Amino acid sequence: MFFACFLLVLILGLSRPAYAETVKKAIVTTAVLNVRTGPSTSYERIGSVTENTVLPVLSEQNGWVQICLPDGRIAWVCGDYVTITEISSSLKARVTTNVLNVRTGPSTDYDRIGTVTLGTVLPVQYSLEEWLLVKLPDGRSGWISGTYAELVYTENTAKGSKIVVDASALNVREGPSTNHPVIAVIPQGTVADILAEENDWIQVRLASGKVGWVAGRYVSVKPSDSGEGGGVDAGDLLSGKVIVIDPGHGGTSTGAIGPTGLLEKYVVLDVGLRLAAKLSDAGATVILTRNGDRTVSLESREKMANSAHADLFVSIHANAHPSSLVGGTETYYYKGKATSTSSFQAAVQIQNELVKALGLRNIGVKHGNFHVIRETKMPAVLVEIAFLSNPKEEALLKTADFREASAKAIFAGILNYFSFF
Ligand SMILES: [Zn+2]
Repeated sequence: MFFACFLLVLILGLSRPAYAETVKKAIVTTAVLNVRTGPSTSYERIGSVTENTVLPVLSEQNGWVQICLPDGRIAWVCGDYVTITEISSSLKARVTTNVLNVRTGPSTDYDRIGTVTLGTVLPVQYSLEEWLLVKLPDGRSGWISGTYAELVYTENTAKGSKIVVDASALNVREGPSTNHPVIAVIPQGTVADILAEENDWIQVRLASGKVGWVAGRYVSVKPSDSGEGGGVDAGDLLSGKVIVIDPGHGGTSTGAIGPTGLLEKYVVLDVGLRLAAKLSDAGATVILTRNGDRTVSLESREKMANSAHADLFVSIHANAHPSSLVGGTETYYYKGKATSTSSFQAAVQIQNELVKALGLRNIGVKHGNFHVIRETKMPAVLVEIAFLSNPKEEALLKTADFREASAKAIFAGILNYFSFF
């Protein structure tokens, strides 16, 4: 379930502003709901939204709710006709340019309402193509261009959560970067309380009472025992969801061929089957476009997904490039369809998890004009896990560990997508 309360303990000496770590979304509960320019019926009606539409909430006033429409416009709806849920914001944007304009809408045509500076980390409430709707330190919301920000993923940690060390030995530092001195080294399996988070760093209290920072990528986060905070229940998120897993190629279509002869069709089938098992264990209804080495046309893959009215379509591939030096992970979505924004959001979540888990070059999320992600009506992504044409990555793709890590990461990305958006 979602958690209404998501507070991070801010430790003395931490000079960051303590803005809320939650975002709210409104779900429309009436057949047609008017959308207005201000918080009462005396304001101009600028459109309507239909039942079950999910809208990011920006603010609330006198029973009215300020929301962001699917096209990025900011507007108001009457609070009587929406249900509001609060979720913790796990996706953040870090500003990568000296000064970045904040605007009222998702393009440079909109008014500038302020600026943010290099290194500022802001919770992301919504995204439209490359534009990100962020929560500013002063509590307002505004749009920034994602071209000048990098997405940072942080675990849904909360007060009472713990870390478990995954690495064989992990440095504990005085502050949240490798520039700070090491104050302790803790072995694999060590459990410690989480006190705070900053970017990808987690502040922990060790059993000895010592407080320090560890790099988030080397630990797993466990929810609190009390059940009051941390993490989301996969069963709740995925029950009722129909997810199509599309292992690319198969049969007469081998896909890419590695330098030692490894075929893409076998690799992606294995990853797809592993992923399907995780999703179905978590309560999702999974449809595999193929579960063996069969030839399946692109049209029939598309039809399977559309006729099942699936909630998400995930196509799994391994990449190839004429240069054997090229490597990395990339995820595609298709720009010109009704569900492009959701597709982009799913792609960001899956790409983030894959990069975090596999550690290969982050090529990023891109638009791709591929049949299966273009012709499917639901949000759809196409994942290129790694390059089969790169000997190092081919060697990785041969191992069960790497395939399992890939499936786990895609699974985590799917969970994030359904919990956040
Ligand atoms: Zn392929």
